[in-house]
Amino acid sequence: MISRSRTLALAAVVLTLPGQVGEVAAQADSPLVTRSYGRVIVDVKVSRSHAGGVLAVGVRNGRWATANTLVDGRRGALTRVAGELFGIVALALDTAVGDHKLSIYFPGGRRRGGATTVNLPVTPLVRPSRARPLSPEGVTAIATQAALGHGRFLLAAIRTRDTKAHHTGPLRAPVDGPVAFPFGGHEDYGRVIGPMKDGLMGEQHRGVDYEVPIGAPVKAPGSGVVLLARSLVFSGETVVIGHGNGLVSVLSHLSYVSVREGEMVVTGTAVGTSGQTGLGALTPHVCFSVYLHSLNVDPEALMDASLWPAAAR
Ligand SMILES: [Zn+2]
Repeated sequence: MISRSRTLALAAVVLTLPGQVGEVAAQADSPLVTRSYGRVIVDVKVSRSHAGGVLAVGVRNGRWATANTLVDGRRGALTRVAGELFGIVALALDTAVGDHKLSIYFPGGRRRGGATTVNLPVTPLVRPSRARPLSPEGVTAIATQAALGHGRFLLAAIRTRDTKAHHTGPLRAPVDGPVAFPFGGHEDYGRVIGPMKDGLMGEQHRGVDYEVPIGAPVKAPGSGVVLLARSLVFSGETVVIGHGNGLVSVLSHLSYVSVREGEMVVTGTAVGTSGQTGLGALTPHVCFSVYLHSLNVDPEALMDASLWPAAAR
């Protein structure tokens, strides 16, 4: 089992919102920045301040129904959750170590709108490595048209644009078992595979591997709609669940899938059993990956309940 401490860091807020500025005392569950602009209070929390982590942005007492965020040129959105404007923002896996900025744009023109910028230091992380060389048959199979087609299926599911939020609050681990290899670890397949051939494989691990024997129940990490449920060359028996607000879970290498595409599930719904299917499974395990607006992030970051407003946990 590999444990990693949650790293928390953030600094100053530069604001251009109208109104008086004041500081609010930090809460116990670790807001990194809490600032008030008159009545409006902005909270920013981070779960894992390195590449692949996430930020939670909350705005209390504002009248806006939505707001947009921008990190490294990538847009995100805040929506109403439990009475406040809230959103989870990805720190993409390719984010460089160093200083970045989170910008939050409030709609409404000069009188009601505005923008604020939060400095966002992205910290380095030493990630473990593992070698899992593909067999000569595997190398051949991975390059077939079927494998490429399966990759496109998976990417299309991951990039599904949702219009409805099915899930708020933290995700739950899909199985009971130790983490055998963490998100972002370096993978050596014995050859260069390329980062996005099927959305799950590449030179960095795209999910969290849980070590469980074949046949263990696999449960939905959150509520949502089953976007994909089929057998793929690399990830084996695979289930993709769309949770809404741009959040998608992928469960791979199952032995059996018990849900169908289009079916609705809730947190904890059995979606199948664990296995060792697909070229990417050399041992029995379940691989759990999470994508936020198509950006691959650490599933364990999304399990951090302190990110959400108390009413939404
Ligand atoms: Zn994995």
